[in-house]
Amino acid sequence: MIWKTAHLQQRALESATELATRCISPQLLESSADRIHLAIVGGGPKGFYALQKLADSLRAETYLSRQIEIHWFNSDHNFGAARNFNTDQPEYLLINNCIGTIHCFSKSNLHKEKPEQALSLVDWIAYHKTENKSVRSLDFASRALVGHYLANTIMLFLTNLPTNIQVNMVVTTITQITENGRNYRIGISDSRWLLPFNYQSVLLATGHSYYSENRDLQTFADHASDVHYISSIYPVQQLDRIKAGVKVGILGMGLTFVDTVLALTEGRGGRFEENERALTYMPSGEEPATLYPFSRSNLPMLPRGPANKQQRYYLRFVTQEWADTLLQQCTVGIDFPEAISPVLEKEAQHAYYRTLSKDFSSSDSFIDRQIANIPQTERFSLKKLLFQPFCLIDQHAEDQHTNVVSYLRHTLEEAEKGELESPLMAAAAVWREAIPIIGQLYREGKLTAESHELFDQKYYGAFCRTAFGPPMENVRKILCLAKAGYIRFRFDSPPNVATDRTHNMFTISSNRQKLDTKVLIDARMPRPNVVAHHAALYQNLVKEGFAMPMVNGSYRPGCVQLTPHGQLVDSSGKATAIFVYGTPTEGFTLDNDSLSPDRNDFATPWAQFATHLIKQQNAIHYEA
Ligand SMILES: Cc1cc2nc3c(=O)[nH]c(=O)nc-3n(C[C@H](O)[C@H](O)[C@H](O)COP(=O)(O)OP(=O)(O)OC[C@H]3O[C@@H](n4cnc5c(N)ncnc54)[C@H](O)[C@@H]3O)c2cc1C
Repeated sequence: MIWKTAHLQQRALESATELATRCISPQLLESSADRIHLAIVGGGPKGFYALQKLADSLRAETYLSRQIEIHWFNSDHNFGAARNFNTDQPEYLLINNCIGTIHCFSKSNLHKEKPEQALSLVDWIAYHKTENKSVRSLDFASRALVGHYLANTIMLFLTNLPTNIQVNMVVTTITQITENGRNYRIGISDSRWLLPFNYQSVLLATGHSYYSENRDLQTFADHASDVHYISSIYPVQQLDRIKAGVKVGILGMGLTFVDTVLALTEGRGGRFEENERALTYMPSGEEPATLYPFSRSNLPMLPRGPANKQQRYYLRFVTQEWADTLLQQCTVGIDFPEAISPVLEKEAQHAYYRTLSKDFSSSDSFIDRQIANIPQTERFSLKKLLFQPFCLIDQHAEDQHTNVVSYLRHTLEEAEKGELESPLMAAAAVWREAIPIIGQLYREGKLTAESHELFDQKYYGAFCRTAFGPPMENVRKILCLAKAGYIRFRFDSPPNVATDRTHNMFTISSNRQKLDTKVLIDARMPRPNVVAHHAALYQNLVKEGFAMPMVNGSYRPGCVQLTPHGQLVDSSGKATAIFVYGTPTEGFTLDNDSLSPDRNDFATPWAQFATHLIKQQNAIHYEA
C-alpha cells in the first residue's frame, strides 16, 4: 500500500496551513533586552529535531527565571516539511524508505507527558486514515503525506511548550553571522542590516544548501534559443518548460532521476495501469519523446525492498566490537581498502551464501570453506555487486539498454522476494546495516586522507546505489517506461557533455555513443563544497573566519571543519558557539540523508551547550 494524502481526514492536513499563518517576517520580531536569544537556521526536519531537543533540555531546568526566545529561521513558509517533504508536491513523489522507519521523536518530554501525541508515522496514519485498510510498517507513502505528518507534529509540539520558551518562526534567508562580544548577530538577505538581537548560540540545519550548477552550460543555454539546462529539478514544476516530443539528456541515475522521469510522464497526465500484475503506461501525449539517462557508472540503483526488524538481514562481522578494536588499534588513520573493505566483502559473501543455502546457523569457518570452494569467476562478490553487477545475472549484451533493463527486471524480482529469501538483496542490505558502524570509523577524518578520498569518490555512491535505491513501485514504473520506449539507456562508458554552438545543442558523447539534445537536466544531488558551490551563508562564514574548510591531510572533503560535538571551528582553530547538524556536515560525518533524529546527532550536544549558557546567564541576571 502507498499512503497518500487522499487517504487521510481533512483535519490531519490542516497543520501545514496553520503553521504558515504563524510565521512572521524578520521586521516583526520585537526586541527585548530581558530575554535570552538563540537561533536555529533551517526549518526542515533537522531544525525541528534541534528545537525539540533544546526544549526538552530546558524543561529539565525548572528554576530558570528568564524568558528564552528561539528564532527559528527558514527561507520560506514550509516549516517542518521544508523542500523535500513539501505538502504541495505531487503525490507520485514517494518516500524512499518504508513508513515503519519514520518517526520524528527521540526521547522527548512531550513523549513522556502525552504519549498519544508523539506518534510514529505508522501510528499517525492509522489515527487519521479514512481508508478501510490496515497500516503496515512495510507500506510506503507520498512525500507530501510525510510533510503533513511533520507539520502536524510541530503544531502539537508548539502548543505544548513551557511558558518561559517562546519560538518565533521567521521567514527569511540568513546570509551572514557576525560576532558581537561573546554573542552573535545575524544578517538576512532581503536587507543590509543585522537583526537587533544578540544570540548566545546558533544551530545551522540548512539541509542541501549547495548547488551543482555548471556556469558554462547555463550561460550556453541562456544564449541559445529553445535550449534548456536545468541544474536542479526541485520543485518539479520547473520541468514544465520542457516541451512535449523533445529528447532529454538526464545526468544522474539515482533517486532524483526517478523523480525526473515521473514528473515528465505521470506528472504530465500519463497513467500507469495494472493488469494481472503487469504495468502498462497510457501516455497523455505531453511527454518528451525519449529520456536518455547517463552517469559516471551508467548503472541504475537497486530497488529497495521494505525492511523492518523482523524481515532484515543481521550482520555477523561488522559489529560494534570490531569497530571498537579497529579504533583502538589504528593510531595513524584507518585505511579503508585494507581494514574495512575486506570485512564488508566477507559480510556480503556470507549474507549471499547463507541466504542462498538458508543456512543461518553453521559456523563462520564452515561457510568460509564453502565459499572458498566456489571458483572465483563464479563466486558472488561485493566488488561485482558494486561495480560489475551485470555479470551477476550473466547479462553481457552488446546493447546497454538490454543489459540495464534485464538487470532492473531481475533485481525487482529479487526485491519482491525480500532480503531473507533473496541472496542478492541480503548482500545489498549489508551496507544499510553497516553504515551506522562504518560511520563511526569515517567521522572526524578517521580514515587516512587517501582512503577518505577514495571512499568519497568511488565507494560511497556505489554502496548507496545498492542499498538506498527507490521503492519497488518506482522501479516497476521505470521498467514499464523503458519498455514503452520513453527511456533509453544508451551509454555504457562515462560520457562527456559539451556544447555545440553551431547547431545549438548539447552533445553527450562517450567512447561508442553520441547524443545531441536541446535539453539537459542535472539530476544529481550535489555534495558539499564550501569553497566553490555553497550557499552565501557558508561562504561568508569562511570569509569572516567563523568557519574553515575541513582538511584531512591532503584531502578536502568539501564540508566545514567541526569539533567532535558539531561546533564550527574558526580560522584560528577555536571552537565557536555555532553548531551544524545534518547534510552540511557530510564529509565530516557519513549518511545524513535520512529523517532519523538520532543519526549524527549534533542537536543534542547543541541543546546541552545552549542550556549551559542559559544557566550561566540566568545566574548572572539573578545575582545582578
Ligand atoms: C528529493 C529528496 C527526497 C528525499 N526523500 C527522503 C525520504 O524519502 N526519506 C528520508 O529519510 N530522507 C529523504 N531525503 C533525505 C533528506 O535530506 C532528509 O530526510 C531531510 O529532508 C533532511 O532534513 P534537513 O532539515 O536536514 O534539511 P531540509 O529538509 O533540506 O531543510 C533545510 C531547510 O533549511 C532552509 N535553509 C537553508 N539555508 C537557509 C538559510 N541560509 N536561511 C534560512 N533557511 C535556510 C531550507 O530552505 C530548508 O527549508 C530526501 C532528500 C531529497 C533531496
